[in-house]
Amino acid sequence: MMFEEIERKDHEQVVFCSDRRIGLRAIIAIHSTLLGPALGGTRMWTYATDEEALRDVLRLARGMTYKAAVAGLNLGGGKAVIIGDSSKDKTEGLFRTFGRFVEGLGGRYITAEDVGTTVRDMEWVRMETKYVTGISRALGGSGDPSPVTALGVFVGMKACAKEAYGSDSLKGKRVAVQGAGNVASHLCEHLTREGAKIALTDIFDPKLRALARRVKATVVRPEKIYEADADIFAPCALGGILNDETIPRLKCRVVAGGANNQLLDEKKHIAMLGERSILYAPDYAINAGGLINVANEMEGYSEERALKQAEGIYDTLQQIFSIAKSQGIPTSEAANLLAESRIRTISPIKQIYAGSSRFAGRLGERVESGR
Ligand code: NAD
Repeated sequence: MMFEEIERKDHEQVVFCSDRRIGLRAIIAIHSTLLGPALGGTRMWTYATDEEALRDVLRLARGMTYKAAVAGLNLGGGKAVIIGDSSKDKTEGLFRTFGRFVEGLGGRYITAEDVGTTVRDMEWVRMETKYVTGISRALGGSGDPSPVTALGVFVGMKACAKEAYGSDSLKGKRVAVQGAGNVASHLCEHLTREGAKIALTDIFDPKLRALARRVKATVVRPEKIYEADADIFAPCALGGILNDETIPRLKCRVVAGGANNQLLDEKKHIAMLGERSILYAPDYAINAGGLINVANEMEGYSEERALKQAEGIYDTLQQIFSIAKSQGIPTSEAANLLAESRIRTISPIKQIYAGSSRFAGRLGERVESGR
């Protein structure tokens, strides 16, 4: 059953890491190294069973292959999970031991922070391996990725406006932003500068009001954001918010935001958006700025270069829309096709220098994005 699970999505390698003395149980999944080392964060979570942890790490690693490929990065896809409670099981020994396992892979897998892990944890990992990104600026790392993610979402939104409204100017456009967190706050600053009109929501009221004041946004109650009078809806909080209940309430013609895994059911809900003629910016393509940011760390971090690369998300979305139109397929599927075609084109070039393996991307399977 385990090998079937691994073979079904064509993963290259899965490593089980265990140290009973230190209490470490972790799984590292390398989905593909065809474009470069497999980069993806380490998630710490209280999985109910080992099978659940394995399934999660396999699906997340595969998602990273697609995200890196579509972003034009020379990176493959990987992910790690540490089984445990991030609020009470963290120790220096745990992360340093995990770091030894990452080091043992000799650079085939590069880790970063993810749900349940922090920059501090990655600094412990870094004591044992150089194959880690997402560390603080003070240590030469890239620090907070959200300014770069937000710029990518902003230019991606402009590409959507061009497609749906014929002009990429957001001046006067009404944008409903869900979330007033890291990504949303930088995004709102770009939007205000451009002259867009923002409707903003968050479940945390003080944060919401402070940001709304700063960017001159109208405050909306969390459950009302879906039916806000808006041209563009920008989900920047949670996943799964495009579903049976919310899609019929949308008044916008574009959904373009930074949140991961926005469609609750990829096939069903992209079809529902299509029926309502709502243009959807595939989440893992528009929010790739965070990955672009950490990828930059590997070449010696430069924020200027990371921001420049994130601007490329405008062109990426235009390519996705063009594939979707020419093939008559939804934009989410077009993004998968673009990723698969880049892997197929570029990986043979890399194989001239290094023996590498196969890629058999399978359409129709959900691609889940992670950070
Ligand atoms: P964040 O935690 O700073 O912000 C999320 C905000 O959403 C919080 O203020 C929270 O109170 C709010 N929120 C939670 N539930 C809500 C609800 N039901 N209605 C309205 N608001 C709600 O996180 P972030 O770093 O800004 O990331 C936002 C999203 O973007 C996440 O899905 C994240 O995975 C994704 N993402 C972030 C980055 C990045 O660079 N930070 C990169 C790629 C993807």
